[in-house]
Amino acid sequence: MSKASFRDYVLSADIIKALDHLGYKHPTEVQREAIPAVLRQRDVVVKSQTGSGKTAAFGIPLCELSEWEENKPQALILTPTRELAAQVKEDLTNIGRYKRIKAAAVYGKSSFERQKTELKQKCHVVVGTPGRILDHIEKGTLPLEKLKYLVIDEADEMLNMGFIDQVETIIRHLPKERLTMLFSATFPEDVEHLSDQYMNNPLNIEIKASGMTTADIEHVLIIVNENNKLSLLRDVLIAENPDSCIMFCRTQEHVNDLHQRLARLDYPCAKIHGGMVQEERFDVMNRFRRGAFRYLVATDVAARGIDIENMTHVINYDLPLDKESYVHRTGRTGRAGSRGKAITFAGPHEKNRVAEIEDYIGFAIPVIEAPSKGEIARQKEAFQKKIHKKPEEKTNKSEQLNKGIMKLYFNGGKKKKLRAVDFVGTIAKIDGVSADDIGIITVEEQGSFVEILNGKGPIVLNAMKKTTVKGKLLKVNIARKR
Ligand code: AMP
Repeated sequence: MSKASFRDYVLSADIIKALDHLGYKHPTEVQREAIPAVLRQRDVVVKSQTGSGKTAAFGIPLCELSEWEENKPQALILTPTRELAAQVKEDLTNIGRYKRIKAAAVYGKSSFERQKTELKQKCHVVVGTPGRILDHIEKGTLPLEKLKYLVIDEADEMLNMGFIDQVETIIRHLPKERLTMLFSATFPEDVEHLSDQYMNNPLNIEIKASGMTTADIEHVLIIVNENNKLSLLRDVLIAENPDSCIMFCRTQEHVNDLHQRLARLDYPCAKIHGGMVQEERFDVMNRFRRGAFRYLVATDVAARGIDIENMTHVINYDLPLDKESYVHRTGRTGRAGSRGKAITFAGPHEKNRVAEIEDYIGFAIPVIEAPSKGEIARQKEAFQKKIHKKPEEKTNKSEQLNKGIMKLYFNGGKKKKLRAVDFVGTIAKIDGVSADDIGIITVEEQGSFVEILNGKGPIVLNAMKKTTVKGKLLKVNIARKR
């Protein structure tokens, strides 16, 4: 069978080019089902595992359908966590880069005023957590009159976390004439209620769990008493010697405790949980993504949607509290075609909970013995070598895409009555530069940021020192902020 191609859909050259640069050669299963339906303006309810390419399944059609000329938000994406909101924003920016789609992320514990300013500027897509989105709606800082697309991502988790009332209130504020897309790895009854109540004859798309994710993950279970968990973990780490691993604990206290113990052993580790300040949470995830350390100790805040390349192992140090969480946690590995291993620790008294998980995932998790003394002795040297060696720094997708992009700052903006089109018009006339070389433009009150693509930054920088925009000669510099 010949593989499907993104060129089979009605997508503009700008989007296809971005997908090429992202290295997306063929649409994944969920993308094959969802993209054409959304392009045909059909509501969709999509049940698909995390790691299956869900974000692009709605991100591609949203970028395609958004009209660049419109300044007010056209698409709203709700996510359960701030980390996921930031990641979805980044994914959409990457997909919409050449169409100059501007996405903003808004979430709590972060400056409301800064978000308000960002929402005032040209902005096609808004991604955010329900509480903060509602806050902006109620304060009138998120204009909704042009909103045509709503995505509820990780809908089941959103409902789990008690966001249902906020989500429903948000929906009631939105224009009725809109497309609604619901994405979820699992479908509890509350989710069905949402789709019955607020969607228009949605197309149900279900991608079987045996897709990209589980087929690429080896699942194993080790039975262990609570008191022996730490020493088992040390043995497992030596035997498996992971390049990159998340260890999930049930509570923030467990995370703090395990992290402290591993740090004392001088293991290259960090932690993340909901009790930490947001900047620190982002910082930890970014460093983990870059490969700055190998082990992340986490609560379920890190279980959702977070995409880290080449994570080789997930260890459930504590059994997850609910069966769905098992799927999300283990879905952090074995992503986008690479193989991964999920190792679960369970106490002798937790057999019922294990059985519940097995029932849910549809297969028995093979029970294995703890690593033997011989195995540990054989692996110890390699393990010591690896933990003391700095991991290879990974460049993330965005950084790769950002190569060849220079962001310029002009000291003129709305106050001087400048608009994005004025910059496009002027810059595209420079010798050797075309409109295709211009990326995202952000016009603020006093100044404007313009991305120049394809390595043309220096030419534009030079030329703009002596070229006027709408009759005004502006100061131009390489922007400090990205
Ligand atoms: P998601 O389920 O949205 O978290 O995506 C999982 C991973 O698959 C992410 O790293 C995406 O960048 C990647 N991905 C999404 N679509 C494709 C595609 N068509 N080809 C290759 N990788 C993809």
